[in-house]
Amino acid sequence: MAETPIRLLILGAHPDDAEYHAAGLASVYREGGHSVRMISITDGSAGHHRLLRDEVAAMRRKEAAASAAVIGATCQVWDFSDGELEPTLELRRRVIAEIRNYRPDLVLTHRTNDYHPDHRAAGQVVQDAAFLVRVPHVVPEVPALPSDPIIGCMADLFTRPCPMSTDIVLDITPRIDTIVEMLAKHRSQVFEWLPYLEGTEAQVPADESGRIGWLRDWYVAAIRRRAEHCRARLVEAYGADRGGSIELAEMFEISEYGGALTEPARKRLFPWMG
Ligand SMILES: [Zn+2]
Repeated sequence: MAETPIRLLILGAHPDDAEYHAAGLASVYREGGHSVRMISITDGSAGHHRLLRDEVAAMRRKEAAASAAVIGATCQVWDFSDGELEPTLELRRRVIAEIRNYRPDLVLTHRTNDYHPDHRAAGQVVQDAAFLVRVPHVVPEVPALPSDPIIGCMADLFTRPCPMSTDIVLDITPRIDTIVEMLAKHRSQVFEWLPYLEGTEAQVPADESGRIGWLRDWYVAAIRRRAEHCRARLVEAYGADRGGSIELAEMFEISEYGGALTEPARKRLFPWMG
């Protein structure tokens, strides 16, 4: 891939957001010898129906680390309270410092049109940080960057006020095993909390191999509509034959507030986009 290693920073609201929306891209980059950092802005402590917040937070920290280890990414779980995230100045400063310190080529986060208030707040705060990472008088203790990183928003299928534009797509069908392996590390979520929310707890198999198969089916069903949403772009990127039949895709909208996705940047970060 590229000669200078790419640096990808994923700023999700919760410890499993990076995996759910961008594990495919993260695994592609890691395979190419690039650097990936996955950050959960909240502690994830609201993500359980039986355990106490402290217990959930401690568990999810370990789960996030185990998942990142699958592809050799680094990971951080910050300590903002899950379910109560706001795009405050404190958080904006933290994000500005993080982007300046890590110096990513690409930052991924949520769109601000999303069902979850934490996702909206995360998306907002990254947008708020976008231009300011270059302003030396803002967070003066960390040197400002000479240029903006490219900022991408991770997939959602919400339509109001506008559906996401699918600027970048990735066929993740060949990556499904790795993605499921990463998701499976978030045991408290994929085998407990999400089935509780969906009323499917009784269907979760007791044995490990049964669970992996069950998780795979759940994930495939959950994201299948993405490929339809970005079909035209998949055909553009992969050609009519392959693009027309891809079942599983990741998709990203490039933010107008980050760095421009120039032709050389696109070739470096997303060479499969033609
Ligand atoms: Zn989330």
